[in-house]
Amino acid sequence: MVSLEKIVHLAQGCNLESLGPEFNPHKDKLNVLGAGTKYDVCTSSWRPDMPGVCHSFNQDGRCISLFKTLFTNYCTHQCNYCQNAANSINRSQVFSYTPEELAQLTLSLYRLNYVEGLFLSSGAGKDEDLIMDKIIETARLLRLKYGFSGYIHLKILPGASFSHVRETMELADRVSINLEATSASHLEAMCPTKDFSCDILQRQKFIRDLMTTVPLPAGQTTQLVIGASNASDAEIFQRMLYEYIELKMKRTYYSAFSPQQGTPFEFKEAQPLWREHRLYQTDWLYRIYRFSPNEIKLAFDENGYLGNFDPKMIIAKKRIDLPLDPNNSSYKELLHVPGIGPKSARRILAFRKMKQITRREQLSRLGVRITKAEPFLKINGWKNTTLDRWSS
Ligand code: SF4
Repeated sequence: MVSLEKIVHLAQGCNLESLGPEFNPHKDKLNVLGAGTKYDVCTSSWRPDMPGVCHSFNQDGRCISLFKTLFTNYCTHQCNYCQNAANSINRSQVFSYTPEELAQLTLSLYRLNYVEGLFLSSGAGKDEDLIMDKIIETARLLRLKYGFSGYIHLKILPGASFSHVRETMELADRVSINLEATSASHLEAMCPTKDFSCDILQRQKFIRDLMTTVPLPAGQTTQLVIGASNASDAEIFQRMLYEYIELKMKRTYYSAFSPQQGTPFEFKEAQPLWREHRLYQTDWLYRIYRFSPNEIKLAFDENGYLGNFDPKMIIAKKRIDLPLDPNNSSYKELLHVPGIGPKSARRILAFRKMKQITRREQLSRLGVRITKAEPFLKINGWKNTTLDRWSS
């Protein structure tokens, strides 16, 4: 795993003038711009101890490491949870890259196999159009001047012009624009300087429509900050459905709110990570397991919250009346059993073409998580636990 020190060392090797001649200014700049992406979670991991590197999945589903950074941490927006916001009294020193130095740094990391691509986000700067120009210029240098064939994920700033949206799509594998909130009123409470419908939804629609003519291999993604507004999990789920169905989103990411010093939301309650995790599980049930929205809604309580419980288990307890025989259940039925995923369901179907399933060990070897699955399964009369135990 590449460390910040290695990145700094490379930056020095690149003779990047705007980074300054000393070690510490290099480190500060890389650190601040790397850490500034904290709430951009259109990737699968982010380590606060390691600003600069994250993991994501490319269009083939392969996990790749990316150099993740802001272009600049200067921002005129007033997101009440962000330390880079204009209304934060704890703003860091302002840093920006130039397109050339960021392109060179990415290239150096890529050539040394430290990363396989770039995830470039940014504050809005003083002029959003200018920052979009620079983001595009960085990608253009990488692709056209340096022949970079690695992965590029570019963030599109709220309110970006149609031509900027098109240009980013022509250079990137993936683009994203942060949704942040589930509705205009929730966004108003979180960030009054952004217009939900015009600055964000309209831009997401530009991307969706342009995708019919501009290839975007890894598609469009977005992210929501969880708990910075009082949107319930059910509202978040509803918004997630809209993003997938209407806007053809490839992925929706969720980031649990954590209060930052000096911001208007400094004293707001932090959200537990399990909330983020449970939302990802419902997202997974919808996208991968193909559960219907109405089935998934069974996992929410009467106030629209998930609670810290496995949503698939809750749905199973409400939907599976009698234990299923894995020897004659359909793929769809098997997928509804906790402890059975798409891979183990497919293995069960293949296995039972050759022999009967008569023992729990067989299921275990096929990848079934027996302790979760057994209350919902019955094999040749064998039933280890009754459903009564689970509903009591
Ligand atoms: S747009 Fe909002 S979240 Fe992004 S850098 Fe600006 S203030 Fe922070």
